[in-house]
Amino acid sequence: MDRTAPGVAVMDVRDEHWNIEEWGHKIEEIYDDPNGPALFNINESDKREYDAIYLGGGASGRFGSAYLRAMGGRQLIIDAWPFLGGSCPHNACVPHHVFSDCAAELMRQRTFGGTLWFQSMDGVRTSIKDVVDLFKRGRTGPHAIMNYQSKEQLDLEYILNAKGTIVDAHTVEVAGRRFKAKNLILAVGARPQVLDVPGKDLKGVYTNVNLVETLDYEPSDTVVVIGGSKTAVEYGCFFNATGRRTIMVVRSQCLKLIPDLETRGYVLDRMKEQGMEIWEGSELQSIESDDDGKVKGVTIKTPDGIQRVATDFVFMGLGETPNSEMAVQALGVQVGPKNEIIVNSRLQTSVQNVYAVGDLIGAPMEMFKARKSGVYAARNVMGREAHYDPQDFPDFLHTHYEVSWLGLGEEEAMKKYENVVIIKMPPNNPNGLNIGLPAGDRVMLYAMAKPHMSGFQKLVIDGDTRRIVGAHHVGYGAKDAFQYLNVLVKQGLTVDQLGEMDELFLNPTHFIQLSRLRAGNERLVGL
Ligand SMILES: Cc1cc2nc3c(=O)[nH]c(=O)nc-3n(C[C@H](O)[C@H](O)[C@H](O)COP(=O)(O)OP(=O)(O)OC[C@H]3O[C@@H](n4cnc5c(N)ncnc54)[C@H](O)[C@@H]3O)c2cc1C
Repeated sequence: MDRTAPGVAVMDVRDEHWNIEEWGHKIEEIYDDPNGPALFNINESDKREYDAIYLGGGASGRFGSAYLRAMGGRQLIIDAWPFLGGSCPHNACVPHHVFSDCAAELMRQRTFGGTLWFQSMDGVRTSIKDVVDLFKRGRTGPHAIMNYQSKEQLDLEYILNAKGTIVDAHTVEVAGRRFKAKNLILAVGARPQVLDVPGKDLKGVYTNVNLVETLDYEPSDTVVVIGGSKTAVEYGCFFNATGRRTIMVVRSQCLKLIPDLETRGYVLDRMKEQGMEIWEGSELQSIESDDDGKVKGVTIKTPDGIQRVATDFVFMGLGETPNSEMAVQALGVQVGPKNEIIVNSRLQTSVQNVYAVGDLIGAPMEMFKARKSGVYAARNVMGREAHYDPQDFPDFLHTHYEVSWLGLGEEEAMKKYENVVIIKMPPNNPNGLNIGLPAGDRVMLYAMAKPHMSGFQKLVIDGDTRRIVGAHHVGYGAKDAFQYLNVLVKQGLTVDQLGEMDELFLNPTHFIQLSRLRAGNERLVGL
């Protein structure tokens, strides 16, 4: 929805002190109304010049603003949506997690259907639309909390529901008014990429954005997903778990981003076991329309020739393009080959007093980087020199499982270290994975009844220094630990130190107890 309309009505909310529920109602009322007012929360009694305007109030703009305000500075957020928080709770991370939760639940239901208390799911197709609608009804809560928290608890100034236009390096025009600041911090995010093929604009072609906004029918029995990285796989696994034939069309290799080959192999094998078709080395050529302008099929070039697939639902999960166009036109900021604004480690662009943060500056496009880059820009604006270089971060994705990793895969480690030692579960076994370990919360039934589905985990160690150099996990509940483990690994965590920790048995990763079994070795041996 375009909210640039000049003369847009303005509502001064400064003296309103709505609670979270009231904010929720207000957001719902305004969101679908193209003539809805711009919401002004400006502290007119503060006569100081703004230290920074954050253009965009997503993760990067909001966290950066909060930090700048906490340091005693004055900030202003301008956002086109009637809520703060940006794309994550609106059409990105949060729906993705809803869908991934559903995928895990459904996989469990389908795996154990007809046994124990599980009803048979044979031939059962569950609704995609119901889950999308459920998410849409629920997303206002997080939106409302962010407006409330930002105003009442963090004391942030903001203008919502109005697009800002950059005038110069110190000025933004919004809802017919011009606001000036010492610095401009660009935080306008990114948008989904769409393959430029015939039929890309037909009804029935979705990205993560228009899926939640416009899905108004129940997709039939075949879904085609374009892409082989996080978004494609996460959404694809959900569609598959609903009982639909799901074809992943992947130009090169699926899930190349998982650094350890054995872990990646485990993940792909389980996806295929769930019935997913992964067409690697394949490209979408065109999307065909029925008489009503709706998708009726796709043409795909595969290594075995052209394939035509009948479907009414195509999902493009191809990554994102930074929204840098306005800044280029208005300010001439330098951009890279993927449209990303180029910044130095202080988040400064090529134009003085203009910073850029979040997805707008390119990969990794993740929440931790959005929030931290916003904060680091704030520090620099406030005269505290701070350098940010997102390296060596832990990562994760969802299939029907949660997959987490940090550091090096076994293959990369072998190139770097002479004596690589591996501790893993299940261990190498002539009968393959058919062992009821790893076992942990959420996989206990699998461990007992379908052991090969109970997950996979691996610790990669430099045997000479005894330092952990990589960790990999497929299962549930380990992601949280990886956030902290990554810090310890960067600090030089050894297998001996890991073995000294106190495990909360049964724990999702078995790293502590397995390390303890080997820590007594003077010359480290794998497991
Ligand atoms: C499907 C999907 C799933 C994801 N899942 C995860 C996950 O599980 N974990 C994770 O860490 N990351 C995840 N991400 C990435 C994460 O969502 C982003 O990294 C993060 O939201 C980026 O924050 P941002 O502030 O840079 O941009 P955004 O949150 O997109 O904020 C940009 C803001 O700018 C506003 N804006 C744009 N133009 C203007 C203008 N002219 N005037 C005023 N306002 C404007 C927009 O309204 C928006 O609010 C996911 C991404 C996708 C696509």
